[in-house]
Parts: sequence; structure tokens; C-alpha cells
Amino acid sequence: MKPVDFELARPATIAEALALIAGSDGSAKLMAGGQTLGPMLNLRFVQPELIVDLSRIAELARVEERSDGILLGACTPHAAIEDGRVRDVTGGMMPRVASRIAYRAVRTRGTIGGSIAHADPAADWLSCLSALGARISISGPGGRRETPLVGFVKGALETGLGSDQMIDGVMIPRLGPKARWGYHKICRKTGEFAEAIGAVVIDGDACSIVAGATSGRPAVIEVPAAEVLARPPGRQDVIAMLRAAGLEGDEYEMSIHAAAVRRAIGEAIAA
Ligand SMILES: Cc1cc2nc3c(=O)[nH]c(=O)nc-3n(C[C@H](O)[C@H](O)[C@H](O)COP(=O)(O)OP(=O)(O)OC[C@H]3O[C@@H](n4cnc5c(N)ncnc54)[C@H](O)[C@@H]3O)c2cc1C
Repeated sequence: MKPVDFELARPATIAEALALIAGSDGSAKLMAGGQTLGPMLNLRFVQPELIVDLSRIAELARVEERSDGILLGACTPHAAIEDGRVRDVTGGMMPRVASRIAYRAVRTRGTIGGSIAHADPAADWLSCLSALGARISISGPGGRRETPLVGFVKGALETGLGSDQMIDGVMIPRLGPKARWGYHKICRKTGEFAEAIGAVVIDGDACSIVAGATSGRPAVIEVPAAEVLARPPGRQDVIAMLRAAGLEGDEYEMSIHAAAVRRAIGEAIAA
């Protein structure tokens, strides 16, 4: 199939892009890398009258170093993170995660902001960045604000983004020098979306455990680091934690999520 006919706009600034989507009432669609939007257009899952291409907006490719972390513009491609073209403040976690997203061609065009905006539960950034405590920078008619990623993602393909707003960046907190992390993705073959993801970050006294590739938003569990380091949770412990965090599923689903999480915890502890 082919997309329906649409107009294409290529704004040079965020303000121009926002003006184009303002009042469009859902008939305009933002496009970053086009890796998800392209297939959705071809299958006519979306039939926009206007596509607003974000790729010429320099501000969306910005990198802002801050005392507590780094802000990456929304149009930063996965490959730039994989290659170290943008500074890593996560002790190697983000480059590793980026390198295992799909195939190189997808990573070259696909962007961090597009991935978060689409909010596919199996997207690697949702799990990784939830464990890292990332914040999303949102631009809209009222200006710019930052909000935690955890809470911004409401469910499968659902975020708190208004139809007149866009993601302009992602703020990634800097991990401490002794921080440890683990990331484990279970998928049938490289390049396929995951069936389960475990992401763990242990930094100082805090340990953040995330189960991703669920049927909704990632399940996020905060526990004291000492607890996990003293006695890594067993399968039943993890399943109980996941259920307490709101994750539901049959025995197979809970087992596969627990396996991904336990492998990520094991990797973090061994680091
Ligand atoms: C074959 C294939 C395999 C893949 N495998 C994986 C995988 O293993 N792991 C994984 O995590 N991902 C995977 N992906 C997804 C890919 O990584 C892209 O990140 C993802 O498609 C979205 O990024 P994009 O920049 O291409 O967004 P686009 O396709 O351009 O946009 C996606 C959606 O987000 C909206 N959008 C885009 N940018 C913004 C913005 N700044 N603000 C607000 N809304 C915005 C668009 O309107 C659209 O609705 C795969 C994709 C393909 C095609």
C-alpha cells in the first residue's frame, strides 16, 4: 500500500513546527527518523493531511552539558549514541543499549525522541531511560517544561504529550563513578522487538529495576541498593515485586519478565 496524499513541511525552528501543528486537530503528524511513521503511513494506519519533518531543526540536534547530566536533542539518532558522537554520562549503558536496537540502518535514522513519543512498550529507550531516571523536555504553546519519563508514558503507544506539543529533548542524569548497571533483552533474533526487557541501575543507595516490553508502560521498582547487593532476588521474589508494581500476566509472561530482570540484576552485580 501507499500513503494517502499529504503536504510536507520542513520547518527550521521548534516555534515554526509548533505553529504548523497548532490547531491541526490531529490532521498533522510530526516526523523525526520516519522509522515507525513510514510503515504506519504505508499501511495507512495514519492518514495525515500534513507531515512536519523535524530533521532540519538544529535545536533538536543540540547537546547540552549540565552539572547533573546531559540533555540530548530529540532528534539525536540511536547511532550517534552508539558511536559515542554524543557524550555518555551513563558508564556505557546508553551506547550498549543503542547498539542493540534493530539494525544499523534503523539506528542511523531512528531518533531517541521519536522512540519515546511513539511509546512502543518494547522500545529499548523506554526501559533504559526509565531505569536511569531520565526527564523529557517538552515544548508547546505555553513554553518548555521537563517531566520525568516515568509517569509521562501512560501505556502502550500512549504518553502525556498534547497534540499541540512536541518532545524537544531528553535529560539524562549523570551516574556516579561507582554506579553499576545491567540490561537484558529477550528477543527471538537480533533486530526484532523484545519479548521482555530487564534494566537495572544501582547508583549510591538507590537501585532502580525496570521490566519493559510489557503490554503497557514499563514496570518500575525502586529498592535500596544494599538489599539487592546483599541478596539478589530469586525468581519468585521478582515475580512478587513485578506484580506489586502492577504488572499482570500469565505464568509464561511473568516468568519471561522475571528472567530478563534477574539477568539484568546479575549483570549489574557482576559489573
Ligand atoms: C525494522 C525495525 C526494527 C526496530 N527494532 C527496534 C528495537 O529493537 N528496539 C527499539 O527500541 N526500537 C526499534 N525500532 C524503532 C526505531 O528504533 C525508532 O526509534 C522508532 O521507529 C521511532 O523513531 P523515529 O525517529 O524513526 O520516529 P518517527 O517514525 O519519525 O516517529 C514515530 C512517532 O513519534 C512521533 N514523533 C517523532 N518525533 C517526535 C517528537 N520530537 N515529538 C513528538 N512526537 C514525535 C511521530 O509523529 C510518530 O507518531 C525498530 C524499527 C524498525 C523499522
